[in-house]
Amino acid sequence: MPGGPVARGVKCLPQPAEPCPRGRALGRGRIFVVRGSGLKQVRRVIFEGRRGAGDDVTARVRRPRATRLVARVPRLARSGRVVLVDRYGGRSRMPRKLRVARAPKAPSVDIAPASRFFYGGRRRPSVTLTAAQSGTARVELLSEETGAVVRTWSVQSRLGQTSTISWDGAGPDGIQRLGAYRFRVAPGSSSARVSASSSGQSFLFADHLFPIRGRHNLGYSQTNNFGGARKHKGQDMFARCGTRLAAARGGRVQYAGYHRYAGYYAVIDGAETGVDYVYMHMRRPASVETGDRVFTGQKLGEVGETGRATGCHLHFEMWSAPGWYQGGSAFDPLPDLRRWDSYS
Ligand SMILES: [Zn+2]
Repeated sequence: MPGGPVARGVKCLPQPAEPCPRGRALGRGRIFVVRGSGLKQVRRVIFEGRRGAGDDVTARVRRPRATRLVARVPRLARSGRVVLVDRYGGRSRMPRKLRVARAPKAPSVDIAPASRFFYGGRRRPSVTLTAAQSGTARVELLSEETGAVVRTWSVQSRLGQTSTISWDGAGPDGIQRLGAYRFRVAPGSSSARVSASSSGQSFLFADHLFPIRGRHNLGYSQTNNFGGARKHKGQDMFARCGTRLAAARGGRVQYAGYHRYAGYYAVIDGAETGVDYVYMHMRRPASVETGDRVFTGQKLGEVGETGRATGCHLHFEMWSAPGWYQGGSAFDPLPDLRRWDSYS
């Protein structure tokens, strides 16, 4: 055999989403390139690791050229000497030891800046993945409280490609309730080849937002509550006039207008619920119009005392499907309001 393979240099080959380790090290699982001569017949590269054959691992070589071959550092490779083996069994040990570094830490999972999200809100929780290799990854959304997988996505990507997944808030039984959640790449899926971290930051997701965006009182007396002798259809909650009012749940504006009792008011048909949300006595005409789509948290107006009202307050109603004076019925919103008030 005229000469064996001769390697003159080995280097990590930088890839778009696979940075090389610092220094001259090769990275486990990363692509490396050998330059030299007589490489055309090389079929294997053995990473000898330490003394003895017990920790030897082999990288297969595909389509080498005479002066250049490319292969991937085996996951179990250790620092040490490297041997090129050609198809005839000819071996050529490289003169210098090579350092093999652990694969760099899994890439980051970026969650949009603020970590509180509401169903139907303007922003959705999202995660961005960068593929370290072409393939498919399964991304899961976990409930931090129960550890249950709420939702899964299959992401196909080419090397270096970036994909973003966003969650609309739906789970196996409809809209997920208040809780802490987190995206992760499913363990054991081919995701090992997609460079997204196995755990991301957790975020809060809530199904509603408390509608009064400032200091408030949920009601001073029984007469502020639902029902009672006066068959009150909602909850009266007090705040300074001018305090911002936001949609507790986004949806479609059913009515926005003026009524001599309700004052300036708005009725919103909540997305996906069939529940109507009613806001009354606003200081000025609602900042949304009939037919508009609004998102959870969008400004509707301000606390006021228009119509038949004593003191600045929000009269808030919730109606079951099919809605406000359309065959639905008003129900006591206070338990929900207390809940929303506790976190938002
Ligand atoms: Zn009232």
